[in-house]
Amino acid sequence: MTFDLTPTAAQHDLARRAHEFAESMIRPVALDFDQKQEFPWPVLEEAAQRGFYSPLFYRDLIGDPTGLSLPMFMEELFWGCAGIGLAIVMPALALSAIGQAASPEQMLEWAPQCFGTPGDLKLAALAISEPEGGSDVRNLRTTARRDGSDWVIDGHKMWIGNGGIADVHVVNAVVDEELGHRGQALFIVPGGTPGLELVRKLDKLGCRASHTAELKFNGVRVPAENLLGGQEKLEHKLEKAREVVAGGKRSGSATLGTFEQTRPMVAAQAIGIARAALEYATTYATQREAFGGPIIDNQGIAFPLAEIATQIDAARLLTWRASWMAAQGIAFERGEGSMSKMAASEVAVRATERAIQTLGGWGYINDHPVEKWYRDAKLYTIFEGTSEIQRIVIASALGANEGAPPLHVELEPSGGPLNRVFGRGTLLRGRVADAALAAKDRVPAPLMRVAMQVLRPPRK
Ligand SMILES: Cc1cc2nc3c(=O)[nH]c(=O)nc-3n(C[C@H](O)[C@H](O)[C@H](O)COP(=O)(O)OP(=O)(O)OC[C@H]3O[C@@H](n4cnc5c(N)ncnc54)[C@H](O)[C@@H]3O)c2cc1C
Repeated sequence: MTFDLTPTAAQHDLARRAHEFAESMIRPVALDFDQKQEFPWPVLEEAAQRGFYSPLFYRDLIGDPTGLSLPMFMEELFWGCAGIGLAIVMPALALSAIGQAASPEQMLEWAPQCFGTPGDLKLAALAISEPEGGSDVRNLRTTARRDGSDWVIDGHKMWIGNGGIADVHVVNAVVDEELGHRGQALFIVPGGTPGLELVRKLDKLGCRASHTAELKFNGVRVPAENLLGGQEKLEHKLEKAREVVAGGKRSGSATLGTFEQTRPMVAAQAIGIARAALEYATTYATQREAFGGPIIDNQGIAFPLAEIATQIDAARLLTWRASWMAAQGIAFERGEGSMSKMAASEVAVRATERAIQTLGGWGYINDHPVEKWYRDAKLYTIFEGTSEIQRIVIASALGANEGAPPLHVELEPSGGPLNRVFGRGTLLRGRVADAALAAKDRVPAPLMRVAMQVLRPPRK
């Protein structure tokens, strides 16, 4: 399927429904949940009632071959509030990790338990980061050791969304220390398992409606079937890793792979915040008067907003491209996932900062939502890989692809062999056009009109 920016009717409808939900159910309560730093259960319940909180909904969006459904949905939801948005989509991040690692049977068992059902909601968490290793996931210290028919997990996790209150924790742990990051595996730890300790709920700058926690795993025992992918797959992976280590080869980490996959999804969230800020600032600037006219009449106010509008569109295009690539199974060989996340998160910070500046003193107090959006946006240059880490990924891809042409040159062309001969810009068409022009005085007008029909731009 070719990359196409035109949304389908279903995507249009999805975005409209998500926007309506964000506008009517999220925005009115966003500041309250933010100030109280309280988990937005009633909004989650409403999301579930509307079909936005279920494993099949997210599997459906992830499986969309155009790649546009997921970022379109995320943008609208996070336009409402990023803290509440995170509370709603956190299980989808865990589900994404399960989807990459689990067997079909495990997927069937755990995916429903990540979300529950309306009236009986469940939560899921993805626990990767540790106090000593956020960016450096190759340096994780949480371990899992086999003991009879169980795995026993010991370690310390930090900044875990839904940590300790989740029904399903997807936990990354080292199973073979000699293999370093290649010796890691993912486990399911159900909420309430003895030894799983919620050390504290973290007090955050922004996205405060979402729950983020520090966790400890003190001899947490889970049955062997909670190893995602199963023992045989793990043995195979470790065997390959040993060959890589013995041969001194380089290979990627599964955890890094998970992040790279989810980056366009997170990028779309940041775009939602950025767009909210731009819209708000633009409306304000057209209404606020100073020195006898609306402040938007000053280029000092209008030009930065014009730049932000351009950067948001650029970030959205990068995000949609990355999401389309992920949906089509095209590898992010040039760091396309990271490009989308870096561009979107950085424009979110710039847009929200600019919105505060545009509102002046009003922007600095919470009578208006822009100060909250500024606090929320900052998270996006930190989690799911900091901006520095995105630059490292893109830079190393640059090195690895040195001399390679841009992506579009390498993509499989659409249109088939006929297009190669008769498509626009082909040599044959050029020759025909030249011949038609040269013969225009000799060829009868009706025939000439037919020839020109072939060359004209497509009708609307
Ligand atoms: C609100 C919130 C929610 C989160 N949710 C989750 C979650 O649900 N699950 C989860 O597993 N994690 C989560 N995280 C963790 C998040 O992914 C990490 O905080 C992030 O990866 C950064 O790791 P760190 O904090 O250890 O920073 P560090 O890795 O210590 O980095 C500190 C600084 O050094 C820079 N740096 C590090 N290495 C390099 C380098 N080689 N070159 C240049 N600069 C470098 C970083 O960019 C950063 O600026 C969350 C974090 C927050 C704040």
